[in-house]
Amino acid sequence: MIKDDFPYFKNSKTTYLDNGSTTQKPQSVIDSITSYYTQYCSNTHRGSYKDGNRATKEFEASRSYIRDFIGAKFNKEIIFTKGVTEGINMVASSFVNSRFKTVIISSLEHHSNIVPWHIMGRTLGEGLEVVRYREDLSFDLEHFEDLLRKNPNSFVSITHISNAFGVVNPVKEITGLAHKYGCKVLVDGAQALSRLKVDVKDLGVDFYIASSHKSYGPTGVGVLYINEEVLPEFSPYQTGGAVIERVSFSKSTLLDSPHCFEAGTQNIAGVIGFKTALKYIDSIGYKSIAENEDRLVNYIIEGLKKIDGVRLYTGKSRIVGNVSFNIQGLMPIDIGLLLDKQNISIRAGHHCAMPIMESLNIDGTVRISLGVYNNESDIKTFFKGLDKAVSILR
Ligand code: PLP
Repeated sequence: MIKDDFPYFKNSKTTYLDNGSTTQKPQSVIDSITSYYTQYCSNTHRGSYKDGNRATKEFEASRSYIRDFIGAKFNKEIIFTKGVTEGINMVASSFVNSRFKTVIISSLEHHSNIVPWHIMGRTLGEGLEVVRYREDLSFDLEHFEDLLRKNPNSFVSITHISNAFGVVNPVKEITGLAHKYGCKVLVDGAQALSRLKVDVKDLGVDFYIASSHKSYGPTGVGVLYINEEVLPEFSPYQTGGAVIERVSFSKSTLLDSPHCFEAGTQNIAGVIGFKTALKYIDSIGYKSIAENEDRLVNYIIEGLKKIDGVRLYTGKSRIVGNVSFNIQGLMPIDIGLLLDKQNISIRAGHHCAMPIMESLNIDGTVRISLGVYNNESDIKTFFKGLDKAVSILR
């Protein structure tokens, strides 16, 4: 059983269904982090002794592994960050803000792909445009092309999978259209890397961003892929130690990418653990991950449809990983609290996607978010718990 790979499930009775927030970590990931801290803990790229060299080797091996894992060509295209939020902020300040008059996002964005644009002074219609969603919450390609026609040479920043509703955006079509109108494209892969095979070349993205912690790896580490064609235009957003070739009091010369973008001591254990997490995903395989999740998503949707007053936030398009719903007359947070009392962890609320909740005229939803270890038995437990919660609340 996959759960046996995760110590959390040995120590906890929780039915964990909040993987969109963060995932549990397999023993192999924990071991690789422990091994760094207990056997060769040293800083990287300082290079005059064995442990330091080993740390550098492992750190750079992670970069190469991640490069191949997402189909990038060069190590210089792989920058380590703290996570998706830092990645988006980095691209926003280092590349977008001074170059692009307009940023186009979708309606289903997480706050981390909305707030940075607001903080830079962009508001709706004033430097920021939002692609409409269709009735089934899918991405409206026609409206997108309309926006591109009116705003050529813009920056497009969209999520791969919606964290609130599990809707998958048609990234290949989006990049194809965007490039036709001279735009550059960033894709937020926070919810995708653990669930879909990502091939940055095939998707045609200029930037792809993902987090380790949502893909069975440690928190506080992520990856920013920058297509090599865009790299020469990208400038570091912070500097200091580790990014320099030479420094005198009169000037500093920076290293080439990726090192010029990784100022200061990095999350070395995190980066090493990130690789182990991706190896773990590889060992299960995306085919098997998708089969399990698709089966469970169907099971959840069919089960929810039987409950009186359920409003499901799904449509014709494929839902991956995250299923959202409401029950008429009940508050998501009350359902969440009563499920927690039964050791069932789901997320209730706006899921850091307030604008779409507002357009749907709701405060939030109850979200079940799946991981590789979830199975039919978890969903049965969830439905039993939900039944009880509803009977108490009604
Ligand atoms: N984007 C999406 C779609 C997310 O789901 C999340 C986290 O929930 C983020 C961005 C933020 O990611 P991070 O925690 O790595 O900063």
